[in-house]
Amino acid sequence: MNILVLNCGSSSVKYQLIEMKDETRLTKGVVEKIGGKDAIFSYQLKNGQSFKEVHAIFDHVEALNLILRSLTDPHNEILNDISEIAAVGHRVVHGGEKFTESVIVDESVMAEIRECIELAPLHNPANLQGINVSKKVMQNVPQVAVFDTAFHHSMPESAYIYGLPYVFYTRYKIRRYGFHGTSHRYVSERAVELLGKPLKSVKLITCHLGNGSSITAIKNGKSVDTSMGFTPLEGLLMGTRSGDIDPAILLYIMTKDDLSVYETNSMLNKHSGLLGISGITNDVRELYEKMQDKDTRATLALNIMTYRLKKYICSYMGTVEGADAIVFTAGIGENSSYIREKALEGLEFMGIQLDKKKNKAVSGETEISTKNSKVKIYVIPTNEELVIARDTALIVKKERKAKKIK
Ligand code: ADP
Repeated sequence: MNILVLNCGSSSVKYQLIEMKDETRLTKGVVEKIGGKDAIFSYQLKNGQSFKEVHAIFDHVEALNLILRSLTDPHNEILNDISEIAAVGHRVVHGGEKFTESVIVDESVMAEIRECIELAPLHNPANLQGINVSKKVMQNVPQVAVFDTAFHHSMPESAYIYGLPYVFYTRYKIRRYGFHGTSHRYVSERAVELLGKPLKSVKLITCHLGNGSSITAIKNGKSVDTSMGFTPLEGLLMGTRSGDIDPAILLYIMTKDDLSVYETNSMLNKHSGLLGISGITNDVRELYEKMQDKDTRATLALNIMTYRLKKYICSYMGTVEGADAIVFTAGIGENSSYIREKALEGLEFMGIQLDKKKNKAVSGETEISTKNSKVKIYVIPTNEELVIARDTALIVKKERKAKKIK
């Protein structure tokens, strides 16, 4: 069974085609800068060959048609015909309170996702557009929605209700939702396999550190708390997002500098975090180099990032009452030995012992704790697309079975 995984942004479409029998990725690619004459289509084949083309692509329909043409291009040797795609799995960022698991998309699901636009105005419209386009271009192929928020539905009220008048929860559904759910789920499931313990008894802390970062406390295989909240702005210090701040600061700055809501939102999401503090970049690699050159603001930005991460790890050690393992994933979590080492420095008293040599020699999935460490430490490369493909295949198989039984 071949599953096409689509992740649609406002001007991009990322995709992977996965053969589910042995979970082989047949191809992956991305169309970027949709809406102009110089859109870029890059893709990679199973044999590692990669291609980059520039096209005039004015909308997502054209982008998807281009992708489908590449999938059936005889030179690429991927598919003979589009009918070999059994289903399409879509990443949808916000599923609100409604979606606690992945679902097959029908009109009512579309309407519910539309209702969540208010909660994720930057992401859900593009995700919806992706579903619409895919339905149009591949009629009769089942479409499945997989939500970033779904994994965090197991959080207890005490973790998701804010200290605001309760009426804002009932009236506007203001609560912690959490994001990066498919990534936290994937690495936690892998960690459970590596630990060799039953899921029901496993306690984990998973750190997804990329441009956007979040950390999740997991008990019995279920998310019990996570650092991102009502939006993906809360929590850890990120590339360009502030993470936790005193909300009164906003009222103060908005009054002092006469900032509009739009400007304030942009300041918090695009001009804060590592970029805002360093005044240089949001890229950890560049900041690390600047720190070697004794740049004080680059050093400060990295210090704040690792300090906050350490604070959250310690806090979640309390939430799960002692973790079996801590997992690092995503661009920074998988690649920066420096960030991992600084975030865990001095935590030996909690049974967390990093093997510094192993930490510097990470390659793919790697255990980086010492032999005697009570808490295992892993680097596990994330694979959100595989989670989406697995859910999609499972749902489609169930649907087929149900139809046959009827
Ligand atoms: P996104 O949230 O956009 O998916 P990624 O998970 O791809 O982000 O992570 C991107 C970040 O990973 C970059 O901003 C960069 O700081 C960091 N990164 C990538 N490679 C390295 C590396 N070798 N060392 C340190 N940081 C890295």
